[in-house]
Amino acid sequence: MQVYKFGGASVKDADGVRNLSHIVSINRGQDLLIVVSAMGKTTNALELLTKAYFNGSANLNTLFHEVRDFHYEIIKNLFPTENDPIYDDVGNTLIEIEWMLEDEPHPDYNFNYDQIVSIGELLSSRIVNAYLNSQSINSKWLDARSFIQTDNTYREGEVNWEKTCLSIQSTIPKLISGKVLVTQGFIGGTSENYTTTLGREGSDYSAAIFASCLNVESLTIWKDVPGVLNADPKLFTDTIKYTELPYSEALEMSFYGASIIHPKTIKPLKNLNIALFVKPFLHPLESGTVINQSAKIIKDQPAVILKLNQVLISFSKKDFSFISENHLSDIFKVFSSGNVKINMMQNSALSFSVCFDWDEEKFNYLKNFLSAEFKIKYNQDLQLLTVRHPNKKILASLSSGKTILLEQISRNTAQLVIKKVE
Ligand code: ASP
Ligand code: MG
Repeated sequence: MQVYKFGGASVKDADGVRNLSHIVSINRGQDLLIVVSAMGKTTNALELLTKAYFNGSANLNTLFHEVRDFHYEIIKNLFPTENDPIYDDVGNTLIEIEWMLEDEPHPDYNFNYDQIVSIGELLSSRIVNAYLNSQSINSKWLDARSFIQTDNTYREGEVNWEKTCLSIQSTIPKLISGKVLVTQGFIGGTSENYTTTLGREGSDYSAAIFASCLNVESLTIWKDVPGVLNADPKLFTDTIKYTELPYSEALEMSFYGASIIHPKTIKPLKNLNIALFVKPFLHPLESGTVINQSAKIIKDQPAVILKLNQVLISFSKKDFSFISENHLSDIFKVFSSGNVKINMMQNSALSFSVCFDWDEEKFNYLKNFLSAEFKIKYNQDLQLLTVRHPNKKILASLSSGKTILLEQISRNTAQLVIKKVE
């Protein structure tokens, strides 16, 4: 049995769905579970819709129609017969949003978010499943919310592994024989049957959960790149592809912000030694990158990861006292309760500095809770450059001409917080 995951950039249009079907057909004959994300930029569009709904904005209908029209365009292209049942399926899925929009929003923004944004994955999986069947591939649609069980932390659902694996193991092996199963990434369900999401870009994680509970041979993530590259080709030229990577290295790279794989994906796979293939969606016969236990790190191919839109915040005591462990503990508590993920940190006698992804709400939360005790300084619109297995040459070339606000070099990793070049 194998699990395939297709992201939104792959299923962004009708041709993407056709290509997915082509990949499935060339790998015919094996039990296959397919996990799909929302199509193209649908998640972003549904995020805007949720905001508009919550804030009572006037453009609510326009935003909804954009999402609706985008999906109808795709199905019109894929299913020329107008009475194909997919038109009703898509219509019924969209009606769920319309009903929600007619009601008053729930006071918890994140709850609304998950009920609305999850529709993106429900739509894409319906369309993919119907298209596979139209191509004579025996395929069945599954609702991931009845398998991926989470707590009710909306937008960051915490997976209950025991319950999740039990329901996956008791149902999927029976269903899958001789079939393709299609389900959604990113979404889960609570014990009260509300929908949750697992955090942005969480479909990889969903695929790893299914792969791990089913103890499959391998998980393949199909991407719009040739495999795992040593840098983002949109930001750097002369990138190279890794043929193989150990789990640990892939995990470090994703932790530092390489957007290739969601950071939570690796652990469940490593625990069961399930190989993770990252393969090019448009060239399915190419080998891509394999991530497994036995791969070697190639230290003369440093990975360069650039994270944009960073903020560097520094805390110092108002009375000129040292930053003690007690103060650090106060600061960390607020970072933890505000769910702020630290990308880099450094302390000196009088200050403690942290770099994290800019998020206005989270930033204000920190300021509210910490400005009584600490003097706070910050810089916005920064970049965080991380280099794995750095050498002098690469560091010199990457930092040349840049203003560096904070720098840290350890045995295997160099990190620089830099001002954006205008
Ligand atoms: N559609 C979701 C997102 O864009 C999940 C995913 O793509 O993995 O964040
Ligand atoms: Mg996506």
